[in-house]
Amino acid sequence: MIQFKKLLRASGRALLLTALISGALVSTSLAEEEDGPAFAPPITKTVVPEVGPGVGLSGHMVVVLDPGHGKTEGHYSGCRFEHDGVTYYEDLITMKISSYTKEYLEQNTNYKVYLTKDSAEVTVPLEQRAAFAASVQADLFVSQHVDSIAGNGTERNAYGASSMSPAVGRYNNEIALQSQEAARTILKQLNSIGLHNRGLLLKDSQNGTLYPDGSTADYYAIPRYSQMYGIRGFIIEHGYLNHTSDLTMFLSTEEQYKALGEADAKGIIEYLEKAGKAPRLITEQTVPAPGMS
Ligand SMILES: [Zn+2]
Repeated sequence: MIQFKKLLRASGRALLLTALISGALVSTSLAEEEDGPAFAPPITKTVVPEVGPGVGLSGHMVVVLDPGHGKTEGHYSGCRFEHDGVTYYEDLITMKISSYTKEYLEQNTNYKVYLTKDSAEVTVPLEQRAAFAASVQADLFVSQHVDSIAGNGTERNAYGASSMSPAVGRYNNEIALQSQEAARTILKQLNSIGLHNRGLLLKDSQNGTLYPDGSTADYYAIPRYSQMYGIRGFIIEHGYLNHTSDLTMFLSTEEQYKALGEADAKGIIEYLEKAGKAPRLITEQTVPAPGMS
């Protein structure tokens, strides 16, 4: 069993290494939620349906938080909005939200929490973030974002929180169901602090990308890669920067970022305490890990 765990860890490192190498050539753009190659580096896997409810049955709960966007080519890549002479950047806000979520979760020693990066001054390719979450056997992978709409008319007035989650009824359906349930639990917590709940936003691939079983892939990169890896993963959008009440009530002060981060953490805890650890992901090495042959 110990050797098996070692193999998993080594495999994870190898996978991350692969992702790091392949990610070097990938550029990011403003539309991070939907960007990235069709799939992150593939891994061979089987999902063993051994999921005991209750925390602590088999080690720590592993949570990977992904602060959306980050500086690329000298500029913040997320959305931004100017209000009363202050420019608000999604990149900086998501970093704060993720940090507060991590801080809250780590008050519980049973949680092991990783961020995909530690500064808004850098960005990490999307597929590399998902590969990292898979490599550490994440029980939950949450990409944290802030919304903005550049459209006209009623669209312009959109407000509230939403989640880009994987669709159910196709590839890795059990994982998709679990991801949706986790996302709903977090949205419920955000709603409890006053943020409107827009619910789940599901969107199919617009360019014919298919999962390995031939079913239609999800459009947004984070849920798509998560489904591909068989991990629970999705995006949470924390209100609209360009909606005055969302901005002033939820997205403009340190206390507000802390409230959002803690609401996410409470949703994560509520979900994981009910659902237990994720189905174990068994990976086979795709490249030799250092020190292994
Ligand atoms: Zn974003």
